[in-house]
Amino acid sequence: MKFVIAQMQHETNTFSPVPTTWEAFGGKGGPALGRAAYEATKGTRVPMAAFLDLAEAQGAEIVTPLAAWANPSGPVDGRAYDRFCEMIADAVSNGCDAVFLDLHGAMVVAERTDDGEGTLLEKLREIAPRTPIAVSLDLHANVTDRMVRNCDAIAGYKTYPHVDGYEAGQLAGSIVLGALHGKVKPVMAWGNVPLLAQTLRQNTDESPMKDCVDAARAAEKSGLLAATAFGGFQMADIHDAGLSVVTVADGDKRQAEDACKTILDIAWRHKEQFIYRGEPLEQAIARAKRAADETGGPILLLDHADNCASGANQDTMYVLKEALRQGLTGIAVGPVRDPEAVGKMIEAGVGASVTLKVGGKMDMPAIKLKGEPLELSGVVRAITDGEYTITGPQFQGMRCYMGRTAVLDTGAAEIVVTERNQEPWDRGVFTSAGIDPSRKRFLLLKSRMYFRPVFAPIAKGMVFCDSLGVGSSDWTLFDFRKLRRPIYPLDEFPGGHR
Ligand SMILES: [Zn+2]
Repeated sequence: MKFVIAQMQHETNTFSPVPTTWEAFGGKGGPALGRAAYEATKGTRVPMAAFLDLAEAQGAEIVTPLAAWANPSGPVDGRAYDRFCEMIADAVSNGCDAVFLDLHGAMVVAERTDDGEGTLLEKLREIAPRTPIAVSLDLHANVTDRMVRNCDAIAGYKTYPHVDGYEAGQLAGSIVLGALHGKVKPVMAWGNVPLLAQTLRQNTDESPMKDCVDAARAAEKSGLLAATAFGGFQMADIHDAGLSVVTVADGDKRQAEDACKTILDIAWRHKEQFIYRGEPLEQAIARAKRAADETGGPILLLDHADNCASGANQDTMYVLKEALRQGLTGIAVGPVRDPEAVGKMIEAGVGASVTLKVGGKMDMPAIKLKGEPLELSGVVRAITDGEYTITGPQFQGMRCYMGRTAVLDTGAAEIVVTERNQEPWDRGVFTSAGIDPSRKRFLLLKSRMYFRPVFAPIAKGMVFCDSLGVGSSDWTLFDFRKLRRPIYPLDEFPGGHR
């Protein structure tokens, strides 16, 4: 037996000014191809690793054309996407018994398609109409009819923060292997509700997302091959953005459809809870200040609108500006991406006093905002290569590359400034730059979910600080044009009927 196994993952924020080139895929220097794709994923917790394990247990010949993963950002470069598709399509054209794809489900490609995954799957179906295809998807997938029509089994993550990529791969892969051996006949059902659920409200440990995931698990327990509730990714101006459900039954289409409907009904009943309601920034900072006075800190200042894991710039300065205005001290900020400021601090050297403009170098035309740098004076406290290995619970052992990194110490704040985007998903973003986050009064993190397993345990409180950015949960900032309407909460649904 011969299997084609590949990964192509990108969550596209169509409002993001951050470019997504070929080089953006992969830790350093682009995606992994051929044998390198195997090496990059084997033994990790990503879905592709599960596909590899399943294939090896079968003694199958394995072809791995591609492992490509990029941070969320703007639409993917069309030529990079063409090459990805070509490599996977060529491998399938050469003949195989099954295809296993580790996809995201929210990839938008500039000048090509709003449905990167569906378009790829359609092409593969054309090449190999009878070859079974297994697909794993991220919980934030914006599922389309084209995706579902052109593969045999879909299973998605059931956790956010995502810690079960491997299990999703195992589930989708096992179903297709079962089909290959004639043991099961997977049939899928899918559907969506007109609901733009916010990622901030998709924590799978809390209601309402937990209710949807519990219902999916219950459906699997009662005999379905797979059931996934997808929260969807909302900073995407495409027709199908939003919450959806995919179920896989063994031969019984009706059973799949019933389970799908049950889970969608639960989501719709909880629609108000899927919406985040914040407070003005000034008020949030004042509240954080009081919390630090009472507890000594650290208090987390969560600048979720500038979260790079949602495709944001990671360089806006609104929250720090307001914190300094209100006289907060003992702040560690990190990371802020600003290659220009890093260069200037390296030139000045460790110990040098500098005055420079930090952050705000990137305009955000899709939300009609100009970048606003913050002029700061301070001492260059450290310069590093920005590399560290994750010690925290998520992505443990992974090597991370922030690019060249410098710390600016203004007295009130120590700011970790980096060349590359990096979610504060590990204390390494601070410790690698010589800062002990547990000893600060405030930690300003451009994060909405991944900070939790790492920073919540050392924090005395957390405050969501609403600022401006392409990762905002304030829908009034975004001009949705392609999104299907009506959709909640942008439109009213009198009587709650959809
Ligand atoms: Zn996700």
